[in-house]
Amino acid sequence: MKHNRFHGRIGGAQRGCEWADCTEAGEFRAPGPRASGFDGPGDYRWFCLDHVREFNARYDWFAGMSPEEILRAQSPVHGWDRESRAFNPTAGVDAAPRWADFADPLKAISARARTRAPAQRADGRAVSPEERRALEVLGLPLDADRHALRSRYSVLVRRYHPDRNGGDRSFEQQLRAVIEAWQLLRKAAAFA
Ligand SMILES: [Zn+2]
Repeated sequence: MKHNRFHGRIGGAQRGCEWADCTEAGEFRAPGPRASGFDGPGDYRWFCLDHVREFNARYDWFAGMSPEEILRAQSPVHGWDRESRAFNPTAGVDAAPRWADFADPLKAISARARTRAPAQRADGRAVSPEERRALEVLGLPLDADRHALRSRYSVLVRRYHPDRNGGDRSFEQQLRAVIEAWQLLRKAAAFA
Protein backbone atom coordinates (compact mmCIF):
# COMPACT_ATOMS: atom_id res chain seq x y z
CA MET A 1 0.00 0.00 0.00
CA LYS A 2 1.47 3.29 -1.07
CA HIS A 3 1.57 6.33 1.12
CA ASN A 4 -1.37 8.57 0.40
CA ARG A 5 0.06 11.32 -1.78
CA PHE A 6 -3.16 13.22 -2.26
CA HIS A 7 -3.11 16.29 -0.09
CA GLY A 8 -6.80 16.87 -0.42
CA ARG A 9 -7.98 13.42 0.60
CA ILE A 10 -10.06 13.30 3.73
CA GLY A 11 -10.68 9.69 4.66
CA GLY A 12 -13.49 8.22 6.70
CA ALA A 13 -16.16 10.76 5.90
CA GLN A 14 -19.43 9.49 4.52
CA ARG A 15 -19.94 12.05 1.80
CA GLY A 16 -20.90 11.42 -1.76
CA CYS A 17 -19.18 13.05 -4.72
CA GLU A 18 -21.12 16.23 -5.54
CA TRP A 19 -20.63 15.82 -9.28
CA ALA A 20 -23.93 15.25 -11.02
CA ASP A 21 -24.78 11.55 -11.33
CA CYS A 22 -21.54 10.39 -9.68
CA THR A 23 -21.91 7.67 -7.08
CA GLU A 24 -18.32 7.61 -5.78
CA ALA A 25 -17.35 8.73 -2.28
CA GLY A 26 -16.60 12.46 -1.95
CA GLU A 27 -13.13 12.24 -0.43
CA PHE A 28 -11.49 15.28 -1.99
CA ARG A 29 -12.05 18.83 -0.96
CA ALA A 30 -12.38 21.73 -3.40
CA PRO A 31 -13.12 25.41 -2.81
CA GLY A 32 -16.79 26.15 -2.37
CA PRO A 33 -18.88 29.20 -3.21
CA ARG A 34 -17.46 31.20 -0.28
CA ALA A 35 -13.66 31.47 -0.02
CA SER A 36 -11.72 31.50 3.24
CA GLY A 37 -11.25 35.00 4.58
CA PHE A 38 -12.10 37.34 7.39
CA ASP A 39 -15.36 35.54 7.96
CA GLY A 40 -13.51 32.36 8.81
CA PRO A 41 -12.98 29.19 6.87
CA GLY A 42 -14.76 29.02 3.57
CA ASP A 43 -17.14 26.45 2.22
CA TYR A 44 -15.97 23.30 0.55
CA ARG A 45 -17.28 21.01 -2.09
CA TRP A 46 -16.49 17.31 -2.03
CA PHE A 47 -15.66 15.18 -5.01
CA CYS A 48 -14.16 11.82 -5.93
CA LEU A 49 -10.62 11.95 -7.32
CA ASP A 50 -11.65 12.07 -10.98
CA HIS A 51 -14.08 14.86 -10.37
CA VAL A 52 -11.90 16.97 -8.10
CA ARG A 53 -9.34 16.84 -10.89
CA GLU A 54 -11.93 17.96 -13.38
CA PHE A 55 -13.13 20.68 -11.02
CA ASN A 56 -9.58 21.97 -10.50
CA ALA A 57 -8.85 21.91 -14.21
CA ARG A 58 -11.80 24.18 -14.85
CA TYR A 59 -11.45 26.40 -11.82
CA ASP A 60 -10.26 29.90 -12.55
CA TRP A 61 -8.51 31.22 -9.45
CA PHE A 62 -8.15 34.62 -10.98
CA ALA A 63 -11.59 35.19 -12.43
CA GLY A 64 -12.42 38.87 -12.48
CA MET A 65 -8.97 39.95 -11.28
CA SER A 66 -6.85 42.53 -13.06
CA PRO A 67 -3.22 41.64 -13.86
CA GLU A 68 -2.17 43.76 -10.88
CA GLU A 69 -4.52 41.86 -8.58
CA ILE A 70 -3.25 38.55 -9.93
CA LEU A 71 0.27 39.67 -9.20
CA ARG A 72 -0.62 40.73 -5.66
CA ALA A 73 -2.25 37.37 -5.07
CA GLN A 74 1.00 35.65 -5.98
CA SER A 75 3.78 38.00 -5.03
CA PRO A 76 6.31 36.86 -2.39
CA VAL A 77 5.98 40.17 -0.57
CA HIS A 78 2.25 39.64 -0.33
CA GLY A 79 2.42 36.17 1.10
CA TRP A 80 3.43 34.10 -1.85
CA ASP A 81 5.76 31.97 0.28
CA ARG A 82 3.02 31.49 2.79
CA GLU A 83 -0.16 29.79 1.76
CA SER A 84 -2.14 32.19 -0.33
CA ARG A 85 -5.55 31.64 -1.79
CA ALA A 86 -4.03 30.74 -5.11
CA PHE A 87 -1.56 28.18 -3.78
CA ASN A 88 -3.31 26.74 -0.80
CA PRO A 89 -2.13 23.12 -0.85
CA THR A 90 -5.42 21.80 0.46
CA ALA A 91 -7.13 23.14 -2.63
CA GLY A 92 -5.37 20.82 -5.05
CA VAL A 93 -4.51 17.18 -5.42
CA ASP A 94 -1.49 15.28 -6.76
CA ALA A 95 1.40 16.90 -4.91
CA ALA A 96 0.09 20.40 -4.57
CA PRO A 97 2.90 22.89 -5.02
CA ARG A 98 5.17 24.12 -2.25
CA TRP A 99 6.78 27.30 -3.47
CA ALA A 100 9.38 27.28 -0.72
CA ASP A 101 11.41 24.47 -2.29
CA PHE A 102 11.24 25.92 -5.75
CA ALA A 103 14.66 25.55 -7.37
CA ASP A 104 15.32 26.86 -10.87
CA PRO A 105 14.29 30.51 -11.00
CA LEU A 106 14.09 31.21 -14.69
CA LYS A 107 13.53 29.00 -17.66
CA ALA A 108 15.02 31.90 -19.57
CA ILE A 109 18.52 31.41 -18.23
CA SER A 110 19.61 29.97 -21.55
CA ALA A 111 18.16 33.00 -23.27
CA ARG A 112 20.36 35.28 -21.19
CA ALA A 113 23.42 34.85 -23.36
CA ARG A 114 21.52 35.74 -26.50
CA THR A 115 20.15 39.06 -25.26
CA ARG A 116 22.99 41.08 -23.82
CA ALA A 117 22.67 44.15 -26.00
CA PRO A 118 20.07 46.86 -25.51
CA ALA A 119 17.65 47.24 -28.36
CA GLN A 120 15.47 49.95 -29.78
CA ARG A 121 11.81 49.64 -30.63
CA ALA A 122 10.13 51.04 -33.70
CA ASP A 123 8.75 53.82 -31.47
CA GLY A 124 12.30 54.75 -30.47
CA ARG A 125 12.05 53.53 -26.90
CA ALA A 126 15.04 51.61 -25.59
CA VAL A 127 14.66 48.10 -24.25
CA SER A 128 17.29 46.86 -21.81
CA PRO A 129 18.77 43.34 -22.00
CA GLU A 130 16.75 42.39 -18.90
CA GLU A 131 13.58 43.65 -20.53
CA ARG A 132 14.39 41.73 -23.72
CA ARG A 133 14.76 38.53 -21.71
CA ALA A 134 11.46 39.21 -20.01
CA LEU A 135 9.81 39.69 -23.39
CA GLU A 136 11.18 36.33 -24.47
CA VAL A 137 9.76 34.68 -21.38
CA LEU A 138 6.34 36.07 -22.28
CA GLY A 139 6.78 35.28 -25.96
CA LEU A 140 6.23 38.90 -26.94
CA PRO A 141 7.93 40.83 -29.73
CA LEU A 142 10.10 43.85 -29.05
CA ASP A 143 7.35 46.20 -30.20
CA ALA A 144 4.56 44.77 -28.07
CA ASP A 145 2.38 47.41 -26.42
CA ARG A 146 1.09 47.62 -22.88
CA HIS A 147 -2.21 46.03 -23.75
CA ALA A 148 -0.46 43.01 -25.29
CA LEU A 149 1.74 42.77 -22.20
CA ARG A 150 -1.20 42.75 -19.82
CA SER A 151 -3.26 40.24 -21.74
CA ARG A 152 -0.33 37.92 -22.38
CA TYR A 153 0.53 37.89 -18.69
CA SER A 154 -3.04 37.05 -17.73
CA VAL A 155 -3.21 34.21 -20.23
CA LEU A 156 0.10 32.66 -19.15
CA VAL A 157 -0.65 32.90 -15.44
CA ARG A 158 -3.80 30.90 -16.03
CA ARG A 159 -2.08 28.40 -18.31
CA TYR A 160 0.76 27.66 -15.90
CA HIS A 161 -1.24 27.58 -12.70
CA PRO A 162 -0.06 24.39 -10.97
CA ASP A 163 -3.54 23.27 -10.03
CA ARG A 164 -4.29 23.06 -13.72
CA ASN A 165 -1.25 20.92 -14.40
CA GLY A 166 -1.29 18.20 -11.81
CA GLY A 167 1.38 19.96 -9.75
CA ASP A 168 3.89 19.63 -12.57
CA ARG A 169 6.95 21.48 -11.28
CA SER A 170 8.10 22.57 -14.71
CA PHE A 171 4.92 24.60 -14.98
CA GLU A 172 5.64 26.20 -11.61
CA GLN A 173 8.99 27.33 -12.94
CA GLN A 174 7.39 28.79 -16.00
CA LEU A 175 4.80 30.54 -13.89
CA ARG A 176 7.50 32.01 -11.69
CA ALA A 177 9.38 33.22 -14.78
CA VAL A 178 6.21 34.75 -16.19
CA ILE A 179 5.52 36.61 -12.95
CA GLU A 180 9.07 37.91 -12.76
CA ALA A 181 8.94 39.04 -16.38
CA TRP A 182 5.66 40.86 -15.78
CA GLN A 183 7.00 42.55 -12.66
CA LEU A 184 9.91 43.89 -14.64
CA LEU A 185 8.05 44.93 -17.76
CA ARG A 186 5.06 46.61 -16.15
CA LYS A 187 7.47 49.20 -14.73
CA ALA A 188 9.56 49.49 -17.89
CA ALA A 189 9.58 52.79 -19.74
CA ALA A 190 8.98 51.01 -23.04
CA PHE A 191 5.55 49.94 -21.74
CA ALA A 192 4.56 53.11 -19.94
ZN1 LIG B 1 -17.29 11.87 -8.72
